[in-house]
Amino acid sequence: MFRSTNPATGAEIATYPELTAAEVETKVARAAACYRQWRNSAVEERTALLERIAERFDSDRERLARMATDEMGKTLAGARAEVEKCAAGFRHAAQEGAKWIAPQPLPGGSGELHYRPLGPILAVMPWNFPYWQAVRFLSVTILAGNVGLLKHASIVQGCAGLLEEAVTAAGAPAGLFQNLAIRSGSVAGLIADDRIAAVTLTGSEAAGRSVAIEAGKALKKVVLELGGSDPFIVMPSAHLDKAVATAVTARVQNAGQSCVCGKRMIVHADIYDDFAERFTKAMLELPIGDPTEDSIVMGPLSSEEQRNTVLDQLDEAKSSGATLTGGTRLDRPGAWMSAGVLTDVPVDSHLMQEEIFGPVAMLFRAHDIDEAIEIANATPYGLGGAVFTNDAGEQARFVADVESGMLAVNQLFSSIPEAPFGGIKHSGHGRELGPWGAREFMNVKTVLRA
Ligand code: NDP
Repeated sequence: MFRSTNPATGAEIATYPELTAAEVETKVARAAACYRQWRNSAVEERTALLERIAERFDSDRERLARMATDEMGKTLAGARAEVEKCAAGFRHAAQEGAKWIAPQPLPGGSGELHYRPLGPILAVMPWNFPYWQAVRFLSVTILAGNVGLLKHASIVQGCAGLLEEAVTAAGAPAGLFQNLAIRSGSVAGLIADDRIAAVTLTGSEAAGRSVAIEAGKALKKVVLELGGSDPFIVMPSAHLDKAVATAVTARVQNAGQSCVCGKRMIVHADIYDDFAERFTKAMLELPIGDPTEDSIVMGPLSSEEQRNTVLDQLDEAKSSGATLTGGTRLDRPGAWMSAGVLTDVPVDSHLMQEEIFGPVAMLFRAHDIDEAIEIANATPYGLGGAVFTNDAGEQARFVADVESGMLAVNQLFSSIPEAPFGGIKHSGHGRELGPWGAREFMNVKTVLRA
């Protein structure tokens, strides 16, 4: 039985039965049968379905958003924005997708490339953006002529059910997209199943390794979107007010539980003290409370377990010599903690190898651009990053030398439907969204013609 608990109150709000092995078998067989039809569906049929799913997300926005807030504690405003982004993601694939997968002539007239689907794709997804994480995979899966099976995180089974409902209600054929209410222990067996063509996972490094090992054993393609410890670099030419405000948003949006947001603020020595004072003050004064209220910027973390993981990391950071301001447990039922700032984190400490998935920033002082880049790259991760500077030469240097799959200049980094999403190093491999995401799970078929 899956239990959904509202992290704002600590109260259980729903239970969901786990699928039996026979029920999983029925769903996998249905996915395989659907694929045999869907693979040869007209692209217009797929894009029309994507448009209708977008409409469902628009019309059902409030119900979807409430479920996310109730199950994992994000603010209702944030949940609404997430649902809107999903609609935009489906719509972008509907409007632009046909050309991403159209056949292309080979140079010299020797033949063409055809983009053909692969089969049922298994998606293992996390709770932090319970719709958008899944939509990044699902929108291009439908477009490509593949079908999807979702193993969603245990704590967001309500959201998983609503996702399936939205796709079904939009008129998808039976088996095109199914939620599998299963535990992570059942994932390896599915990856080994001949009917599953490939697997994609968003989540922790540990889950990614485990899924990659199983995919490797079965010689199946895998896309991994794993953790990040993104640098947020501020140089003296930056607009400081904007940099401070954006740094706070980066670190506390979704209660700090975003793979792609600034987690390590690296600030040039000339402006460090000013930045640190303003940033720390804003973090400590953050409006924390009922996530359904408009005035609230941060609600609880997604679960007490996740909150305790973050508090344990902070204890360890303090023992390694770091100084913590704020970042304490709030004494009320649920998964509450305050936002905080860590300074004096030794660059060679264990924490630099980890992702802090909660509302606590690390603050570093860099004496020049070389040192800023050195600190930025001193983690195993390479997902996103943000740089604040109005010096064109510095911008070019950061674009070239920050080790990341994505980078924002003078703005918050956030995924958009038009751009590929993914990382390097331990943040994973492969890309989601757009033609890059669609083709990850397609057979690029060479056809030569005499
Ligand atoms: P996990 O990575 O454990 O969970 C993500 C998904 O993977 C869930 O569906 C989970 O299922 C599944 N999963 C977990 N282990 C395995 C496995 N061995 N084989 C197959 N599937 C697996 O994240 P947690 O929720 O436990 O969070 C732990 C840490 O992971 C966080 O502190 C954060 O650092 C990181 N994280 C990063 C995310 C990101 O977007 N980069 C998102 C979520 C977490 P189930 O829920 O049933 O365990």
